[in-house]
Amino acid sequence: MGKPTGFLEFQRQTEGYEPVERRLKNYQEFVGHLDDDQARVQGARCMDCGIPFCNNGCPVNNNIPDFNDAVYKGNWREAIEILHSTNNFPEMTGRICPAPCESACTLGINAEPVGIKSLERAIIDKAGENGWVVPQIATARTGKKVAVVGSGPAGLAAAQQLARAGHDVTVFEKNDKLGGLLRFGIPDFKLDKRLIDWRAAQMAAEGVKFVTGTMVGKDMPKGVANDAVKTVAPAKLIKEFDAVVLAGGSETPRDLPIPGRALDGVHFALEFLIPQNKQNGGGKKNPISAAGKHVVVIGGGDTGSDCVGTSNRHGAASVTQFELLPKPPEAENKPLVWPYWPTKLRTSSSHSEGCTRDWSVATKEFIGENGKLKALKCVRLEWQGGKMSEVPGSEFEVRADLVFLAMGFTNPVASMLDAFGVARDGRGNAAATTDGDGCYATSARKVFAAGDVRRGQSLVVWAIREGRQCARAVDEFLMGSSLLPR
Ligand SMILES: Cc1cc2nc3c(=O)[nH]c(=O)nc-3n(C[C@H](O)[C@H](O)[C@H](O)COP(=O)(O)OP(=O)(O)OC[C@H]3O[C@@H](n4cnc5c(N)ncnc54)[C@H](O)[C@@H]3O)c2cc1C
Ligand code: SF4
Repeated sequence: MGKPTGFLEFQRQTEGYEPVERRLKNYQEFVGHLDDDQARVQGARCMDCGIPFCNNGCPVNNNIPDFNDAVYKGNWREAIEILHSTNNFPEMTGRICPAPCESACTLGINAEPVGIKSLERAIIDKAGENGWVVPQIATARTGKKVAVVGSGPAGLAAAQQLARAGHDVTVFEKNDKLGGLLRFGIPDFKLDKRLIDWRAAQMAAEGVKFVTGTMVGKDMPKGVANDAVKTVAPAKLIKEFDAVVLAGGSETPRDLPIPGRALDGVHFALEFLIPQNKQNGGGKKNPISAAGKHVVVIGGGDTGSDCVGTSNRHGAASVTQFELLPKPPEAENKPLVWPYWPTKLRTSSSHSEGCTRDWSVATKEFIGENGKLKALKCVRLEWQGGKMSEVPGSEFEVRADLVFLAMGFTNPVASMLDAFGVARDGRGNAAATTDGDGCYATSARKVFAAGDVRRGQSLVVWAIREGRQCARAVDEFLMGSSLLPR
């Protein structure tokens, strides 16, 4: 374990942030680094409590006490080996994971939890800087071919695992760059996109082929990003590959079909965030500008928060965020919820850059003038027994030149699943289990599914988990057994 008395001696310390005024001037990452001594002290805080709840709280089941101990002892190379044994992309999770592991940390019962995410990031960043992350090329080839549809974290994790098992893997991506929402959803200030290129280079050296700008299937509904210049028929993949992994995400945005929806100024969140990511990556200027505008973001999750941060970087006159649900408590009731992920008020770094937040608010109408959005008509809600009702007489108007709809994503693109003949579950996701015989297999022969396309809109760390587990299921299907970890 770390230092037996470390948790009594040392306080939690996480990385510092650049001051708001400075970070709002650009789109670069603004979270600092723990230096080696600071990381060592934080590693020392781990109690190695015997039953590491953190390890179960982490969706990829990172061996957290082991890497904490390795950092405490200064064994950084051992730490990265431990981390990579369960997580293909710690450079992503160490930056953007909400860290459910920390909610499950035993120290967190009566003190500040171990800064697990900070340590994860410190380990992978050091490994990257020192050139310790090298291709792991399979020693034997199987001669089996696997197609992966989608290059988000689920597709990339599945592809990397399958390539390491010796299969010939080709990833098809309809957008012009790899990464899925890592690339085009999540802003640069949360995740530097060079990290995706860095990891993709490792994967290419391991034998993964990437085919971008190529859509599998032929229909993509309005509102879904699509840079494809070529298409591939699902039947061709089925014919030419021994297995297909669907990892196309859950891309259908939830709409708000109220009066005024067609007004100029009302957009889905990704209509704003994707072009911004492209602009930051050297592409065309974002056609939507929030500069000097009154912005309202509808939806209180990660996507909404990213619209807040991006609007503030544009120089918005004001940013307001509405949430339908009631305001959660400031702190959780630990004895009641530990070690589970608690419902509590979460203030993101984007919120603290400037945002008025309001809860229990429903938008009834977008009000315009000459076709342009001018205001929102809203009403306050009352929640009882999980049911909402409008508070009589509570209608109000709020000025708005731009609205971003960030209310989540309802389901994967149905036409893609239909084209493969994949049965859907009640929510429109690809139907497949995650445990037991036939896990991750869909109803279509040799077609598997992982990530948001199977579980619905979720988190990067869950996508990595599903990609890894799906790879093992595919390997078993192709070879009869698998040495890939689950
Ligand atoms: C704005 C935003 C911010 C977020 N922030 C966070 C965060 O901070 N932390 C976190 O953990 N999670 C966050 N999430 C959620 C997280 O990004 C997703 O859960 C995760 O990316 C899902 O991974 P995936 O691989 O299943 O799908 P995706 O990342 O959606 O990737 C799917 C890929 O498949 C491609 N594709 C789809 N159909 C086809 C086709 N027919 N042919 C070829 N290619 C196809 C798509 O173009 C896409 O590149 C955020 C989501 C959004 C929208
Ligand atoms: S991946 Fe997320 S949950 Fe797992 S250890 Fe890292 S920060 Fe914690």
